[in-house]
Amino acid sequence: MQNTAGWRGVIDRYRDQLPVSDATPVVTLLEGNTPLVRVPDFVKAIAGEFDLYLKYEGVNPTCSFKDRGMTLAVSKAKERGAQVVVCASTGNTSAAAAAYAARAGMQCVVLIPEGNIALGKLAQSLMYGAQTLQIQGNFDQALDIVRGLGETKGVEVVNSINPVRIEGQKTAAFEVCDALGDAPDFHFLPVGNAGNITAYWKGYQQYEEAAKSDTLPRMMGFQAAGAAPIVGGDPVTNPETVASAIRIGNPASWQGAKAAVQFSGGKIDKVTDEQIVSAYKQLASSEGVFVEPASAAALAGIIKVSAAGGIDEGSIVVATMTGHGLKDPDSAVTYANSEAKVVPVDLEAVKTAMGL
Ligand SMILES: *Cc1c(COP(=O)(O)O)cnc(C)c1O
Repeated sequence: MQNTAGWRGVIDRYRDQLPVSDATPVVTLLEGNTPLVRVPDFVKAIAGEFDLYLKYEGVNPTCSFKDRGMTLAVSKAKERGAQVVVCASTGNTSAAAAAYAARAGMQCVVLIPEGNIALGKLAQSLMYGAQTLQIQGNFDQALDIVRGLGETKGVEVVNSINPVRIEGQKTAAFEVCDALGDAPDFHFLPVGNAGNITAYWKGYQQYEEAAKSDTLPRMMGFQAAGAAPIVGGDPVTNPETVASAIRIGNPASWQGAKAAVQFSGGKIDKVTDEQIVSAYKQLASSEGVFVEPASAAALAGIIKVSAAGGIDEGSIVVATMTGHGLKDPDSAVTYANSEAKVVPVDLEAVKTAMGL
């Protein structure tokens, strides 16, 4: 975890921009303050002539950006006296909800699509002690059920339909501006339920209004081709993609995403699973940055836009790497195209294997 001395989490750092008061009990695992990693070799390899920085959210406490929204959502739930937090999840929201609920001493119930979340995320929810229910359906169906649970007394929904999630997540845009001295020219990110693109845009706008930055980035959102409702203009009934975190057919923040790209002069587009997997492997092997497949959708988007001449020379580009690669070990082992060879306990045999 990347936490410098004195860092006390995103609520503490950006308190004046968040809906909290002295009466709010702050539930934090010291999320945020994530690195902005410059990746010149990746840019060179795709023949780009711009500066690319990755906002590496995989080093948050539960290894995805969801922690930023969850510190606020669970703190507010506790302030309101809720006993139980619930969410539907493709995996990372449930991991974050389970961890922050444990930290707060609250119960947590998570609804996940049966057999369809990455192994690391399932392990997290179980270890943090959440009641983990596999719904015999997809994420969108699980979210419909959670909306219904929200009307129950003492139960707080911590999906991004809860507006404080977006408030917490916008702190990533503040950190980008604080690190670069201004907003970038472009901001790329993967789009699933579309909460994060909505949150970043809100953050960039607020920083500009507060004169803490001078410009606004073009917001560039990427969906997977098999789960691209916003690109196609209609909900997708059976979304399919290797990038399970963005396997969503009817995004809750659809309008927020539309507004972000429209007002910023950006766009929402799609990339294929082949493009996602290729970017996923290329980043890890060329820069040592291991992300989960959904994060690689943003990189595949950069490759696509750059190849079409859409990123001017000298541009400052930021892409959010939403989750850590270890979240989804099965995808890594499947797509690495490499195996761990078995060798006898013998110096010569090892040398032979090394080609010496
Ligand atoms: C949640 C998530 C996304 C999608 O973010 P939305 O806010 O749902 O658009 C992308 N990548 C990862 C790793 C996620 O956990």
